[in-house]
Amino acid sequence: MNNPFDNAINQLEKALEYVKLTPEQSERLKYPEKIITVNFPVEMDNGQKKLFHGYRVQYSSKRGPYKGGIRFHHQVDMNEMKALAFWMAVKCAVADIPMGGGKGGVEVDPKKLSDKELEKLSRAYVAAIANEIGPEIDVPAPDVNTTSQIMNWMVDEFMRIRSRNQKIGNSEKSRLMATFTGKPLTNGGSEGRTAATGRGGFYVLEALLEKIKPNMKEGRKLTVAIQGFGNVGYYIAKFLYDAGFSIAALSDSRGAIVVNKIGQDSLNPEEVFKCKKEKGSLAGCYCVGSVCDLKLGRNITNTEILELPVDILVPAALENQLNEKNAPRIKANIILEMANGPTTPAADEIFFKKNITVIPDVLANSGGVTVSYFEWKQNLENQKWSEKKVNSLLKDKMTKASLDIFEIARVKQTDLRTAAFITAVRRLTSAS
Ligand code: GLU
Repeated sequence: MNNPFDNAINQLEKALEYVKLTPEQSERLKYPEKIITVNFPVEMDNGQKKLFHGYRVQYSSKRGPYKGGIRFHHQVDMNEMKALAFWMAVKCAVADIPMGGGKGGVEVDPKKLSDKELEKLSRAYVAAIANEIGPEIDVPAPDVNTTSQIMNWMVDEFMRIRSRNQKIGNSEKSRLMATFTGKPLTNGGSEGRTAATGRGGFYVLEALLEKIKPNMKEGRKLTVAIQGFGNVGYYIAKFLYDAGFSIAALSDSRGAIVVNKIGQDSLNPEEVFKCKKEKGSLAGCYCVGSVCDLKLGRNITNTEILELPVDILVPAALENQLNEKNAPRIKANIILEMANGPTTPAADEIFFKKNITVIPDVLANSGGVTVSYFEWKQNLENQKWSEKKVNSLLKDKMTKASLDIFEIARVKQTDLRTAAFITAVRRLTSAS
């Protein structure tokens, strides 16, 4: 089994070869500042109480408050949380936003909970960590299986706890709202946040495509396969489709769909989304143009999707999907990592040798936390920015980060991930 934290440290070690640090500085990067473990009961619909296990890892506050999502998933464990929190620290440094790195999670399969149970669980988790978070301390956000609705419950619970002992005025309320990002628009959220991770990934690809693979297009539409059809997978699919890429295949946690004629037919992500909602499953949603027809495609597994003959592969689900086993069979030319940690170090090496370019997670998916930072700032300054402003600031940030990292990779002759880590290590330690 691949331990994600070992993988993260392995990625760091590669970058440390290029940056001069004291032993203490490099050791410090390998440990989170603080780990919070919570075990709390929630009353289920059947009246029985059940104990849940949760975490919040506060990795680095060197550049600002800890920042990172909360994940609800049955595979959540300490090593995963540590890795994800570290990647957040690296990501915030790469995007050059004044925030540190953190991550939280609860070991639970939320699909097995009723809405009421989900709300109770969200509130109970926040109550358990309430003393450890706040706008200047630690700022959680959505991650796998957590939505703006869940952020709404969480911020509400947090406010309720804080107003027990003190009266909260309007400006203090807005400030405290900055404890969570990814909130609904109607309750302190930012324009553009929901689509931000996907949009950011699109801007990164746009900035790098010609540089990393000149002439790849040759007048044809580039083909894409996307693993994961949650918030991130859906939006990156939509932005790529709208920009004229051909979406050959999509998958969710239960399976994948692929068009019969890769390169000729493209799935329409919006239609697929509607179809999936109606049917409750992705299977059979071969929606090409505005038509969803069983004859247009077939079902495959969500691991087979990774090995399709496409130009661009987008892992947008979980860690360790691309590993030493399947890496030799990957046919894409570019891997755009919209998930966190989808590629193991062994797979990275295989891709480097095969001249497959990996656009690393800490750059590719940093649009989400970048707009989270914009949301935090708007709350603290009691402002509301337009969607146009948010998207244009996001584009500037993503383009600059992409070009900076491309340049470091070129000068140091490394892969893009190592270049991103070199940048982050310098920023996290103020080293040169
Ligand atoms: N969960 C997202 C990530 O992994 C967003 C984190 C945030 O907005 O703080 O980047």
